[in-house]
Amino acid sequence: MTTHALLLLPGDGIGIETIAEVERLIAFFNARSNAGKFVVERDLVGGSAYDAHGVSITDAAMAKALKADAVMFGAVGGPKWDKVPYEHRPEAGLLRLRKDLDLFANLRPAICYPALADASSLKRELVEGLDIMILRELTGGVYFGEPKELVTLENGDRRAVDTQIYTSREIERIAKAAFDLARKRGNKVHSAEKRNVMKTGVLWNQVVTEVHKSYAPDVTLEHILADNCAMQLIRNPKQFDVIVTDNLFGDVLSDEAAMMTGSLGMLPSASLGAPDAKTGKRKALYEPVHGSAPDIAGKGLANPIATIASFGMALRYSCDMGKEADLIDKAISAVLDKGLRTGDIMQPGMTQVGTSDMGKAIEAELRALTV
Ligand code: NAD
Repeated sequence: MTTHALLLLPGDGIGIETIAEVERLIAFFNARSNAGKFVVERDLVGGSAYDAHGVSITDAAMAKALKADAVMFGAVGGPKWDKVPYEHRPEAGLLRLRKDLDLFANLRPAICYPALADASSLKRELVEGLDIMILRELTGGVYFGEPKELVTLENGDRRAVDTQIYTSREIERIAKAAFDLARKRGNKVHSAEKRNVMKTGVLWNQVVTEVHKSYAPDVTLEHILADNCAMQLIRNPKQFDVIVTDNLFGDVLSDEAAMMTGSLGMLPSASLGAPDAKTGKRKALYEPVHGSAPDIAGKGLANPIATIASFGMALRYSCDMGKEADLIDKAISAVLDKGLRTGDIMQPGMTQVGTSDMGKAIEAELRALTV
């Protein structure tokens, strides 16, 4: 039987609580599924790694991540670590994972479960049945470009610089990933940039157009200015299938899409590298979009669905277990249909449950779906 090596990095705050619910499902599949067995390792990341080792991720944990078929990441950060040196801040652990695994493609689906359409901040008819994928370039752009500095000038003014840089190679590989994804979905890509005011936007537009012509003429491509994309997401989100965009715009647009589905607690994500030349396997990290939620951490209130759905994406994209991934999606939908809600998605007349009861209910649905 195939084995899948998983590295669990729960991190801080609610990451610890939501990854525990993934462990519940790993145990379930290990006991029941014939599609593969999970071999699990664990390590620290973020503030908890800083407390134990003085760094946000150790070289030993990085080595495990490089070996794993998939990394399941919880969340990092919290006020406790607000004053640690900048290079050791909790987020640095996540940025190192993304950089060293060369995870350049960040997939953020925004799906509106029918049972939650009324919990969205948009009208039901705008979001019911919504299923869009935001593909964000993750390793380039303004978060990494040099120079990046904050200096005091001779006249006493302070000046901060961030640099947006993209090469054609970086744009080409994310464009190809977008067209590949679209072929498995609605066959439509919107490419969002700011070619009207940014040189990187001009290059982005040129390269995506070239890749479309040579690699994916069968897919519909539309170019859209990133600010217009932000407006259109609120006006008529169902016009989109796959939106491909850079690191900064993707960060903002995917959080905007988050709110359409009701809660950050519902949003999974995947970050993938290039396929390995020999094995075809991609390095991969799966994580909920939300952070460590210090306001509710340790209280058993966190919604584990974003992390569980991220595990579902790991099954689909890293473990060749698409059937099991579909089962997870069905189990989540069934639990919501039965009226179970964590506090973040609570509605009148529904039953409020905590993190572990939500995890147990999803496991029970999986059991019912697989007998
Ligand atoms: P957050 O996502 O942690 O929380 C925002 C709000 O959403 C909070 O009110 C929180 O209670 C709620 N929320 C988030 N996830 C939830 C869930 N699963 N169930 C129920 N409610 C949920 O964002 P923040 O408050 O801006 O950041 C808190 C910390 O997390 C900061 O230190 C920040 O740097 C860090 N952060 C980490 C990541 C990451 O690890 N990838 C991402 C974003 C923020």
